[in-house]
Amino acid sequence: MPGAASRTRWVLGNWKQNHLPEAAGNCARIVADGLAGAGAGAELRIGIAPPYLSIAAARPACRPASELWLFAQDVAAQDEGAFTGEVGPQMLAAAGCAGSIIGHSERRALFGDTDALVAAKLRATLDAGLHAVLCVGERLEARDAGEHESVVISQLSSAFAQIPPELVGPRLLLAYEPVWAIGTGRTATPEQAAAMHRCIRAWLGERYGDAGRDRSLLYGGSVKPDNAGALVAAGDVDGFLVGGASLQAPSLLAIAKATAPTQSPRP
Ligand code: PEP
Repeated sequence: MPGAASRTRWVLGNWKQNHLPEAAGNCARIVADGLAGAGAGAELRIGIAPPYLSIAAARPACRPASELWLFAQDVAAQDEGAFTGEVGPQMLAAAGCAGSIIGHSERRALFGDTDALVAAKLRATLDAGLHAVLCVGERLEARDAGEHESVVISQLSSAFAQIPPELVGPRLLLAYEPVWAIGTGRTATPEQAAAMHRCIRAWLGERYGDAGRDRSLLYGGSVKPDNAGALVAAGDVDGFLVGGASLQAPSLLAIAKATAPTQSPRP
């Protein structure tokens, strides 16, 4: 069993609906130029998820030209057909994306991504050979009511209902993003993040054995250069999905540097 020390750490910037193509290309280039200084390599992967229309502009700075990973922010559950406005897994692969974020809370809350749709997107993405970053997380009411773990477990049960063991491997990442921490400046404490990650890891382990337990689990929610180190040092946090602080290359790189194993060895 690989265990904590060998789980790949990831820092992935979710640019949301920001960065027109020119800005996306520039930002991607600056991030790519700073990868070595931030400690990117086999143990720490750094990625960006530009808006669809800026993916082509960011692509030249990404793999294979550098070790910067290119992701999409969302993906359709089907590859092609009469689905106006949708972009499927094969299209993302053709555009150079290594994978996609799936089930971000903004998709769930604002665009009707139900648990069932998230499950279908996860299956389609993994079936296509892409990486999937599955987002889960509770709303503030659930946290206040002490129901945060049961909410997240219910999201996991639904998302993995159709995922066979052979699809659970290094291409599967999870991001715990408490809704109350996204874009609010209110970060989960390292203890809260680590406790939820232990819960998610236990659930994955129960269902998929070591293949589930060994997945990289990211935290997301108001991560900044000055709180990343403490979060990752709490253990069980294998990196970050970063929104606002990823829009500027220097702060994304600073978060990555704080996440690099040499900066914060496992407790
Ligand atoms: C996100 O959108 O996934 C996110 C974590 O945003 P922020 O870092 O701005 O809270």
